[in-house]
Amino acid sequence: MSEKKGFNPKNAWLEMEEDEQQEAFNLSEEYAKFITENKTEREVTSRAVEMLEKEGFEKLEEMDDLKQGDKIYSVNREREVLALVVGKEPLTSGMRLLGSHIDSPRLDLKPNPLNEKSELAFLESHYYGGIKKYQWVTIPLALHGVLVKDDGTRIEVNIGENKEDPVFYITDLLIHLSRDQMKKKMSEGITGEKLNVVVGSIPLQDDNDENEKVKAAVLDLLSEKYNIEGEDFVSADLEVVPAFEARDVGFDRGLLAAYGHDDRVCSYAALKAVLEAERPRYSAAALLVDKEEIGSMGSTGMKSRFFENQVAEIIDKYYDEYSDLLLRKVLRNTEAISGDVNAGYDPDFSGQYSETNSAYLGKGIVLTKYTGARGKSGASEASAEFMGKIRGLLNENGVLWQIGEIGKVDKGGGGTIAQFLANYSMDVVDAGPPLLSMHAPYELVSKIDLYNTYLAYLLFLEN
Ligand code: MN
Ligand code: MN
Repeated sequence: MSEKKGFNPKNAWLEMEEDEQQEAFNLSEEYAKFITENKTEREVTSRAVEMLEKEGFEKLEEMDDLKQGDKIYSVNREREVLALVVGKEPLTSGMRLLGSHIDSPRLDLKPNPLNEKSELAFLESHYYGGIKKYQWVTIPLALHGVLVKDDGTRIEVNIGENKEDPVFYITDLLIHLSRDQMKKKMSEGITGEKLNVVVGSIPLQDDNDENEKVKAAVLDLLSEKYNIEGEDFVSADLEVVPAFEARDVGFDRGLLAAYGHDDRVCSYAALKAVLEAERPRYSAAALLVDKEEIGSMGSTGMKSRFFENQVAEIIDKYYDEYSDLLLRKVLRNTEAISGDVNAGYDPDFSGQYSETNSAYLGKGIVLTKYTGARGKSGASEASAEFMGKIRGLLNENGVLWQIGEIGKVDKGGGGTIAQFLANYSMDVVDAGPPLLSMHAPYELVSKIDLYNTYLAYLLFLEN
């Protein structure tokens, strides 16, 4: 970048040779399959474990000791994964950590979700994460998740993804009767309580004249086909997600649309990087966490002790001794990339973005120095020194990058897991591709940005 006047990142498609562009297309194809097949944190976790085991990663708890070159992983409640390759340098000199999240905005089912209104059966939902509610009506929806019976039996559900499956649906009011609705604010046109998912319409054929025969028929069907009884919804993690496949966008196929790029695009790149990290100098790790979209709370979120606990166990097996001081040293000396997406500049909504400080689709991975809102509140900020180090590494190796802020000052904002990693006193910077339509049921990413994100992550782990 130094030979240019000022800072003006070029379009990455112009900077990358044809063979590199082809690699970007190939990576996007693998990724498209991955996100089409894995739409929930549990599904991503179980696929991640498959991929890790295939490359020789072993369960941390089954290792007696750890030495250079060992590849291990650890899973938290089927919804969080830590993978690590032990490096050449001693652990106390720190790790190279990629952290990203595998939960995405969606509609969760309420604990007593099934009801009937005017001979239609619905599942009531409670949305998860920041969504524009009006975007979730009149699109095909799928139901994913797990129910656990009171004797511990698990029932896995994944309905709406195969061509022969039914899908589910949330209605909207026809335009002909929408004079009142159309005058409402967009945040009120569709409310949270309106997000009821249509799941049945054929009443039970029997002779007694009880009400709610459609609900009764759905319950019968659930019992026969899936062994699900009405009370089982109480102990369930059921998620309603868009039934869309990832698809190429544009005549030139340069973009990829999918549900949940935020943040499976970074998670996939991080996973791939840790799988490919060859004899890293520092121990190289990828941490895929849950619950980022609702504040990183809970036993599987970044605020839980899972990560710290696993590092303690790694230290115990690596040094054959453990002390709190060793743990604090390892964490303090670790350098991290918080892999998360940023807002891509959308020319149709230009008023919300700063033209000079936004990320643009097609200009590579975004280094986000700080996030937050209202005067950087709630952000961790990468230091000049750490930004300089990362910038130098990317420049030296021809990885294309840009910078970005989430919109104009005081237009809004957001946060990532960076601040929780920074609590360990480690250096951390947010870096990932920019998206258009972030948090919509179908988001847009540039394939060349995904490719540069993956290159940046691999480089970071190996240096
Ligand atoms: Mn995110
Ligand atoms: Mn998000």
